[in-house]
Order: sequence, then structure tokens, then C-alpha cells
Amino acid sequence: MNAHDVMLDDVAVYALGALPPKEAAAVREHIAACAECAAEYRRLKPAVDAVAYSAEACPDAASGAVVPSPRLKARIMDQVRRSAPPRLSNVGEMRAVRPIVWPAYAVAAACLAVALITTVFNISLNETVRSSKAQIAQLATQAKMLHREVAAQRTELADLTSTDSQHYAIEGGEVVRHGNRLYIAMEQMGMPPHGKVYQAWVMHRGSAAMAPSVTFMPDRSGIAVVRLPVQATKVIELAVSMEPDGGSKQPTSKPTFVVKLS
Ligand SMILES: [Zn+2]
Repeated sequence: MNAHDVMLDDVAVYALGALPPKEAAAVREHIAACAECAAEYRRLKPAVDAVAYSAEACPDAASGAVVPSPRLKARIMDQVRRSAPPRLSNVGEMRAVRPIVWPAYAVAAACLAVALITTVFNISLNETVRSSKAQIAQLATQAKMLHREVAAQRTELADLTSTDSQHYAIEGGEVVRHGNRLYIAMEQMGMPPHGKVYQAWVMHRGSAAMAPSVTFMPDRSGIAVVRLPVQATKVIELAVSMEPDGGSKQPTSKPTFVVKLS
């Protein structure tokens, strides 16, 4: 390795901004005069800048501006320093102790490439982990909802089929009460005309008026199972009427059925 090759190494370290001030000044002076070293510097500088700016930029606490992370630069410099043999002032001495090694700029370039790839990989990995976590959270919520739904359906099925339940027959179905739960279970219920829905009405113990409750629709085969949002033990009468879409505050049509609950 001749003295100019050593200077080329210095250019690479200079491009990384890692040379002590005195040597940096010497390299600057040399670059101004040497086309080959100037070309090498021009070749390396954009890569160094690109890594520093794109791979690990972080907002400056004071100004909020995006600036290169000092951590990345320190990491690269540390690797370069560890990879490069000790710097000696005398070229002859250097020849004696320094076997043929990767030139420092090749080591630096490799370090830059590794740092860039690692950082980009980490960014995309973090992104993947973040979105996976969000998906898992969403699935967990869905699973919880499904679980609740299944549990509710199991309770409903048990209530509707239990011999312990009270069954009040009505035309096309029945009203079922099990403990504090109250259901309308229709097997044959005609579809209401367009713009109309069925609405339940309940009369509570001690009250003389029907209070509006849920609206509902049968499915295509005329089946409707509705759990009423009431405490069944407090309800003494239940009715269903046909009402405009969205429901009414007072019944606007003759009830399709009225059941007194004993
Ligand atoms: Zn040169």
C-alpha cells in the first residue's frame, strides 16, 4: 500500500467526519489538489449523508426539525475505528506492521451498507409488528364479542326450550319468560309493509300505560326471536303493534297481540 492509498483511506474516514481536526485539514488540502481523492470524496459523501438523513433521522427536541441521529453516526464510527488498524504516522513503519487489509473506506462502505440495511429492516419490522399487534387486538375484540354472542344465544336457546320457563301461546309463536328474562319467539310472522316495523310494548307493575320497547323484523321465513330489554318479573302485560320505521312513542295501530303475564 503506497502513501496515496493511505490518503484514499483518510478520504473515506474524512467523508464520515471522523478525522481529528489536524488530519482533516490535511485531507481537505489534498482533495483540493488531487482529482482522484476529490472524486472518491464526491462518491462517498452522498452515501454518508443519505444514511445519516434517511436511515435514522430523529426530530430535534428543541426545534422539531428532522436531523440525523447522532447515535447512528457514533455506531458507524465505532465500527470503522474497530475495523481499521492503528494509525501510524510513518508510511514505512505502516508497511511493516500492517498486512494487506480491507482499505478503511471499503470497511466504512460495508458498515454503511449494513447500517442502512439493518435500519431499514428494523423500520419495516417495527411497522409489521405494530400492524400485527393492531390486528391481534382487533381479532381479540371480535372473539370476545362472538363469545358473548354465543353465550347469549345459548342462554336464549335454553330459556326458550326449558320446561321451567313460562310459555304464553300467541298466534304464530309464543312469549316466553324465564326468571327475569322475557322473549317474543315467532315462528310465523308476516313481513310488515314497506316503511313499517313491529314494535313491542310493555306494561310495568303499578303502571296503567304501555311503555314503548324494541322494534324488530322477522326474517324471510317469518322467524323472529327478540329478547326484551326489561326485567321480566316487573312486566305484567306485553303487546306488539306495527309502527313506522324507527318506532313510535305511542301505539299508532291495533296490536297484533296482547299477552297478560301472570
Ligand atoms: Zn489523492
